[in-house]
Amino acid sequence: MAAPTMDAVVALCKRRGLIFPASEIYGGIANTYDYGHYGVLLKKNVIDAWWKTMIQEREDIVALDSAIIQHPRTWEASGHLAGFTDPLVDCRACKQRFRADHLGELQCGRKPSKHPGEADECDLTEAREFNLMFETTIGPVQEAGSTVYLRPETAQGIFLDFKTTLQYARRRPPFGIAQVGKSFRNEITPGNFIFRTLEFEQMEMEFFVPPDEAGQWYDHWRRARLDWYVGLGIDRERLRLRDHDADELSHYSSATADVEYLYPIGWSELEGIANRGDFDLTQHARFSGERLEYVDANTKERYVPHVIEPAAGVGRTVLALLCDAYDEDEIGGERRTVLRLHPAMAPVKVAVLPLLRKDGHPERAREIYEELRRHVNAEYDDGGHIGRRYRRQDEIGTPLAVTIDHQTLEDGTVTLRNRDTLAQDRVPADELVDRVTDLTR
Ligand code: ATP
Repeated sequence: MAAPTMDAVVALCKRRGLIFPASEIYGGIANTYDYGHYGVLLKKNVIDAWWKTMIQEREDIVALDSAIIQHPRTWEASGHLAGFTDPLVDCRACKQRFRADHLGELQCGRKPSKHPGEADECDLTEAREFNLMFETTIGPVQEAGSTVYLRPETAQGIFLDFKTTLQYARRRPPFGIAQVGKSFRNEITPGNFIFRTLEFEQMEMEFFVPPDEAGQWYDHWRRARLDWYVGLGIDRERLRLRDHDADELSHYSSATADVEYLYPIGWSELEGIANRGDFDLTQHARFSGERLEYVDANTKERYVPHVIEPAAGVGRTVLALLCDAYDEDEIGGERRTVLRLHPAMAPVKVAVLPLLRKDGHPERAREIYEELRRHVNAEYDDGGHIGRRYRRQDEIGTPLAVTIDHQTLEDGTVTLRNRDTLAQDRVPADELVDRVTDLTR
């Protein structure tokens, strides 16, 4: 079908408790969302798939989980304290604050049909640079404590642990360090659901290479990262790689490409792949006084590795999966909403449904459910008409449903229903574990 609207995706997420506004009983808080049961499972599948490609399928990347609050010098060295800013303007009339570089997408506080600055009464200040890092204090007394920051990206923790990792993991470039965790940015642009939030999980990998191999590894990761999203089942036509123009590049980067997805808000960044050169290790060496370089034990050759960084967002991947999978069709004259998620991404792999709540159906169904859930995430549901139960599973993207009926008790077969083809195959119950695990990998 045609791409869904963001409103349709938001409504489904709320209705089925995947993702909903945080602090709702207090009226919510801007750009902050909570993940409910199915949302947690979907997010976990994304993160697991990322670890699988980075760690299980390669031998040149190691895992790390560094602290969210690091030494404040980290952000001086990285350039975030001085340069991680957005230009903001205030409106003296409506008292709202806007990103100066996003005015064309925003609504005037008093006349929502106009952009800020366009209505007669608008009175915008000059743009001022506003740092996106959240500040807090270590120690009980604010004045006497030291100011620290919630990390705005996970990458810097990796650079701080470069030397330790090099030693304990006994690696030589090219090798990578991968990390998944929360980052925090004081984003003021509202809306667009989980696309831009104050706190979000990143999946970042810093790949350290000999300087003369940086170009070839940049090309490798650029392509590999696009392919990863295709492997998650996202439509290739709705994905693209966009190389940054020279004037878009960050101060540390000699080349950057974004993997973009065609969200309901238009083509937007899912992930950035950057050739960061030796900027980060050189800066942290300068600020810390540590030597952050690779020394070859045999040749004694020493150099500062260059870094290729694929930096992805969990929330933006979840949103791309949801937008891509969302579909509406009609079965027997009834509308249905269905998430056509890749089975590996689906929060629940199989639903087990007794046709009746009597005649031994629930007992046999529970036995089958107990067996299946030892292997995959399964759900038991005996509430309501069978059609309604199928619909509930379709909405959360469950690829398979097993129905137990009177024939099951006679010949030991069940029906296995496919979410997309709607085919209902009669299969022996003792083949279910193999079939379901095969079909949902
Ligand atoms: P944007 O230009 O959209 O603000 P960015 O270029 O600042 O993004 P990076 O610093 O490259 O983003 O961060 C890497 C990834 O982290 C992004 O591709 C995105 O998936 C995710 N990300 C960054 N900021 C946010 C946010 N506020 N909310 C959700 N995800 C985010």
